Amino acid sequence: MTAPLIEAEGITKRFEASGGLLRRSGPTVYAVNGVSFSVAPGETLALIGESGCGKTTLARTVARLYPADGGRVRFKGEDVTQARGKALKPFRRAVQMVFQDPYGALDPRLTAGAIVAEPLVIHRVGNRRSRRDRVAEMMATVGLSAAQMTRYPHEFSGGQRQRLGIARAIALDPELIVADEPVSALDVSVQSQILNLMRDLARDRGLAYLFITHDLAVVNFIADRVAVMYLGEIVELSDRDALFADPRHPYTRTLMRAVPVPGHGKRARGAGPAGEVPSPTDIPAGCPFHPRCPRAEAVCSTEKPPLEPIAGQPQRRAACHFRDEAA
Ligand code: SF4
Repeated sequence: MTAPLIEAEGITKRFEASGGLLRRSGPTVYAVNGVSFSVAPGETLALIGESGCGKTTLARTVARLYPADGGRVRFKGEDVTQARGKALKPFRRAVQMVFQDPYGALDPRLTAGAIVAEPLVIHRVGNRRSRRDRVAEMMATVGLSAAQMTRYPHEFSGGQRQRLGIARAIALDPELIVADEPVSALDVSVQSQILNLMRDLARDRGLAYLFITHDLAVVNFIADRVAVMYLGEIVELSDRDALFADPRHPYTRTLMRAVPVPGHGKRARGAGPAGEVPSPTDIPAGCPFHPRCPRAEAVCSTEKPPLEPIAGQPQRRAACHFRDEAA
């Protein structure tokens, strides 16, 4: 078995909710609660779930943009959870981000060339001339021309801006890219171009992705494995094809019933999960999904199911008392 590139073990991230005008602080929100997973070299793990499920917070905590309140992050076997300054530099170089809003993520005062060169400057890679060559190479790799190096972000289309964000992310030859909804702000026709580019980069450069999305068609296109999140926890972890063919957590099933997924011969057969996502300041006892679950039984409101292997499929896990039942 390949050694993991990155491992998250029991990651917890909490925030103080606003307590309003009369209180100093509000209740604690467990945005991410004891989450564990790993990504192998060259693998794409998709993190999916409804808005507010904690997937962005989890990815940013694992990328060390937020400090973890509990748990460990290991990169190539080395614990980087508390690494600072010089000790964190190799990790910063090897793990890059691509954001949802390419316009917001690019400094409008810098030219495209300066934006792509920025990580090279920060990490003191090469000299002015070699950096310029590298920037031209990265621009070409993502389908932009060297002549566009002197333009500013507002002179590019949305898709071109995301290409620029990707060029910057790959400039240092990273091993993992954390991509936070990288195509959801783009037109549908442009989405497939960017997804094709990202998949080609993974193939050609051996890149791994931690890929956040709420779009199952995107998951189907790009993921090797999928982690389904609900209220700050992973409730199902599976390779992609097995998940689409036979989802075992009722939450995953309701997500899939709501959305037709090309290539899996399924039509939308209903709405998404019933009701609203409970407040993360007031997570239901027992299984957190039980107030919305069509399969719930009495045990579900009192006993929390752990994320455990599915019978006969040890590589798949689901947090449901009835995870061994096929749909
Ligand atoms: Fe539904 Fe019960 Fe399974 Fe939770 S444990 S997902 S409530 S069946």
